[in-house]
Amino acid sequence: MASSKDARRRPRVAGPSTRGMRSCIGCRKRAPRDSLIRLVCDPEGAVVVDRHLKAPGRGAHLCYDVGCIHLAAQRRAFGRAFKRSVAPVDPERLVAEVGAAIEARIRDRLAIGRRAGWTRSGMDVLARVRPKLALVVLAEDASESTAQRVASWGDPEDCPVIVFGDRALLGATQGQVERVAVGVVDVDQAVRLRIEFERRDRVLVAA
Ligand SMILES: [Zn+2]
Repeated sequence: MASSKDARRRPRVAGPSTRGMRSCIGCRKRAPRDSLIRLVCDPEGAVVVDRHLKAPGRGAHLCYDVGCIHLAAQRRAFGRAFKRSVAPVDPERLVAEVGAAIEARIRDRLAIGRRAGWTRSGMDVLARVRPKLALVVLAEDASESTAQRVASWGDPEDCPVIVFGDRALLGATQGQVERVAVGVVDVDQAVRLRIEFERRDRVLVAA
């Protein structure tokens, strides 16, 4: 592996940078650092998810893919990645932890959206801004008739409807007791959220 000195000396060239690339310890493919799960090893030797990609120390990376998590566990790749002995890794626990980290990021983003003004909630409000909607998050405990109404607004390309959390959870992100649906009216933010939902689906694959 090149030292950081070598990395600095590397000439800047047009096109996708290879700086910030990391290898998945499951499938070993390389990918941009921020498109991978980052794991760190705590002082007791437990492997934990670095939710914000900021924890100090050596990191190990994995694709957002349940298969890569299991592969890494089968290959006992964690100890090699951290260059120390680590506590045995239960892949099911790690899958649940990664899933929880993704869901926390989605909740955080929806809360940021309310403060920044790019989310809308409440069925009447959503109906009014319907042409601007780029994504609708629907509570899993929405009634059948609400779900049908929301589904009629969406379309798979420009405004997908994604089921996530319950009414209390969606409400909490919007400073309300309950919300049955939250709409995103900013296209770029909708794309970022869709990436998180896709990650969730690749990690938390229904058994
Ligand atoms: Zn992988």
